[in-house]
Amino acid sequence: MMLSRRDFLKLSISGLMASSVPGLDAQIAASDKPVPTIWKGSDRHRYFALTYDDCYLLQRLHDLEYLLDEFPGFKITLFPVGVAILNLHRQDSGIWNRLVENGHELGYHSWDHSGLHVVSPENAIADFDRWMEALIGVLGYQPRVHFSRPPYGVLSPSFDAIARARGQVVTMWSTGWGGDLPVGLKAAQDSKAGEIVLMHIRTQDVLTCREAYPWMRDNDWRSVTLTELYDDLLREQFQSEGCDVGQGLSLTRTCLDELGVN
Ligand SMILES: [Zn+2]
Repeated sequence: MMLSRRDFLKLSISGLMASSVPGLDAQIAASDKPVPTIWKGSDRHRYFALTYDDCYLLQRLHDLEYLLDEFPGFKITLFPVGVAILNLHRQDSGIWNRLVENGHELGYHSWDHSGLHVVSPENAIADFDRWMEALIGVLGYQPRVHFSRPPYGVLSPSFDAIARARGQVVTMWSTGWGGDLPVGLKAAQDSKAGEIVLMHIRTQDVLTCREAYPWMRDNDWRSVTLTELYDDLLREQFQSEGCDVGQGLSLTRTCLDELGVN
């Protein structure tokens, strides 16, 4: 569904207000306004957004970190569950800060991978807040989190309520590179410009990345964060030449970031 410019503006304003106005959450949760939801980016750019869900396994995440060191231009988005944020932090206290400092992005994927479609909007929002508290605890500051992916990819009114109340873009995917190496690599080589790629922090997917990253580099593909992909998409949809600082059109606020305004 294509959202109007006005809808985006309203959504971004309600996202901002929700975090500071008590009692507004329930009102927003009950709203029937469309929630920004993305499956893929613009096909005008020679990049993919590589995304990795769950993030239970520290060793596999380390493997991916070492690989990323060899590809400094590649940026990824991780969707760790809250329990994994804490578990991995206990084993390697620098893990999340390092990833963010290296330009990678973190998104919400529930506290413990329970299905949020079966809980009330209020409890779903509380789940997001618990996740965010864990992230603030390990990072030492409140990061900007713009993208949320529902467990099992199940879209629901409760997940929409999170997006409305906390200013999130519901993030799905257009392809996956999971599975055994030949399957994952074939999916990579069949991918089209602007795709959002679903993977997990697990052995097969990291093995696929070891082959897919060099293939991407040799074929002039990049991996970008969801913020970069989404900002490009918004600019294209609104036929904007650049930032819309005054009206806060960009939900991801990277226009403001570029100007150093927060
Ligand atoms: Zn998951």
